[in-house]
This record gives sequence, C-alpha cells and structure tokens, in this order.
Amino acid sequence: RSKAEGRNTYRFFEAKMGEEAKGRRLIEHELRRAVSGGELKLVYQPQIQIDSGEVIGFEALLRWHNRRRGDVPPNVFIPIAEESGLIVELGDWVLLEACREAASWDEPLTVAVNVSAVQLHSQEFPHKVHDVLIRTGLPPHRLELEITETALIKDMNRALAALRQVKSLGVRVAMDDFGTGYSSLSNIRAFPFDVIKIDRSFIKSVDKNEQAAAIVRAVLGLGRGLGLPVMAEGIETSDELRFLTDEYCAAGQGFHLGEPAAIEHFDHIVRTGSRFGKRKAAAAAAS
Ligand code: C2E
Ligand code: MG
Ligand code: MG
Ligand code: MG
Repeated sequence: RSKAEGRNTYRFFEAKMGEEAKGRRLIEHELRRAVSGGELKLVYQPQIQIDSGEVIGFEALLRWHNRRRGDVPPNVFIPIAEESGLIVELGDWVLLEACREAASWDEPLTVAVNVSAVQLHSQEFPHKVHDVLIRTGLPPHRLELEITETALIKDMNRALAALRQVKSLGVRVAMDDFGTGYSSLSNIRAFPFDVIKIDRSFIKSVDKNEQAAAIVRAVLGLGRGLGLPVMAEGIETSDELRFLTDEYCAAGQGFHLGEPAAIEHFDHIVRTGSRFGKRKAAAAAAS
C-alpha cells in the first residue's frame, strides 16, 4: 500500500467522521425542537404478574416522530440526547408526562420511567422527582424508576446518594437490563433496588437454550436469596412464558404479553383493572 493511498484512506475516513458528526448535530438540533414542537409521545407496555396474569403496571417508553425522518428509534436518539445533555430536558418531560398520565388512572397501577445516567447524576434529580409527585398528585409508591447498571458505575457514591433520596420519597427503583452491565453482583447488593429486570437477551429462547436457562435460573435464585422480585423482559413466545411460570419468575413484560402502545389502547385496564390482563395472560399461556 502506497503512502498516497494511506493518506487518501485517511482523508476519506476524516470526511466520513465529519459527516457523521454533522448528522448527529443535526439530529440534536431537531430533537431540541421536538420537545417544544410536540413531536414526542409516550407509549406504554404492560407489566404482568406471572402467576395471576394481572397487569401490575406499565413501562413508559419514549417515541419521537419527525416529519422528515419519520419514527426515530430511542436506541438512535437517546444516546445523542445523553451526549448533548439534552436528555435532562427530555427526561423532565417524560417524568412529568408519565406521572400525570398515571395519576389519571382509576386503578392504582405502577408507572415505570427510564432514567438515564446523566439525569440520575444531576444534582437536582431527587428534588425534581419530589416536585413532579407533588404537582401530579401521584402516590410515590406508584412510580418506579428504571436504572441501568451503567448509570451506577459512573460515580457510585453520587448514584447511591441519589437512589437513597428518591427511595426516601417512597418511590420504587428497578435495575434495568440486568446482566448486560458491569459488576452486576456487587451493584445489586450495594444499591437499594426493589426489583431486578433480567435483560431480554437472556429471555430469548430461554425454553430451548440451556445456557440462557442456566443464567435465568441463577438470576431468579439471586432474587430469591436477596428477597427481590425478578421481572423478565422481552417475553416473545408462550414457551418462554411457560418456562418463566415453571421457574416462579414474579413478573414479565414482552410482545407476547402486550406490545408498547398509546395508553388509549389500554383504557379498559387502567379504568376497570386487570381482568382483561388476566384473561389475556391465561389465553397467552394456553396458546
Ligand atoms: P428498555 O428500558 O430496556 O425498554 C425495553 C425495550 O424493549 C423497549 O424498546 C421495548 O419496546 C422493547 N421490548 C419490549 N418487549 C419486547 C419483546 O418482547 N421483544 C423485543 N425485541 N423488544 C421488546 P424501545 O422502546 O425501543 O426502547 C429502547 C431503549 O431506549 C429502552 O430500553 C431504554 O433504555 C431507552 N428508552 C426508551 N424510552 C426512554 C426514556 O423515556 N428515557 C430514557 N432515558 N431512555 C429511554
Ligand atoms: Mg426500561
Ligand atoms: Mg430493559
Ligand atoms: Mg434496554
């Protein structure tokens, strides 16, 4: 390879990098306007108690629809929002919107809200949570904050202090995507979690894959030993659900039990309770 060729490759690489950075900045700019422009909305995915089949709560998931780009997936725009700091503004919107929605339900179901590391580590976070609970009137125990392990390792002391503060309000905290981050086992003991959510990568084909099954059983044992309920994420088939039922997994979430959708779709559940969920889960388990 000649030197000139190397230089050209480098220039090409530089140009590509420049374009990628430009693309990210453009998304960032559009995302900034999305907040005020009404392009954001929340969808809700049911969370089900496996033994009874009852809906116990909903996870709020952020959606961004841009006129030009169409639907931009969270896996694309959340990281950009985190790097630019815009996630704080987005997160404030999500928290208020989700709590306001949940406060309007007749049934006392939980609403789970994802909190990014940047939000958790900002000094005002616990105060903001308190403020939103006061403003919306949502009882604290009906709010569950979902936090990933990666959010904890940035500054363990700060994270622990923030979690203790929100816990002291009566808010619940969940460890999200368990098993995919670092030093899982020490985190689960050091932080005051109320529930462990096993990442969906371990639930996929858990009924057929011995290794996945071994990991899931280990996490269920861990939960039992620590007195923490475990929720399985990403249940897509009746066989996966049956495995989790047989292993006494407390709760579950996934396309097989209910896809994320506008809250209107779940109106009967939030108005009249989980009888729908019961029937649905029973039917799902039998199918
Ligand atoms: P997460 O918190 O682990 O949320 C679960 C994700 O799995 C959601 O993707 C959901 O739609 C998807 N999912 C649920 N059931 C199934 C299933 O059975 N199969 C498969 N393949 N997927 C399933 P979504 O909505 O695209 O969100 C992706 C991630 O983006 C979330 O993962 C969360 O980390 C982040 N996110 C979403 N909304 C927010 C938010 O408001 N704030 C923050 N900070 N992050 C958010
Ligand atoms: Mg989550
Ligand atoms: Mg998750
Ligand atoms: Mg995730």
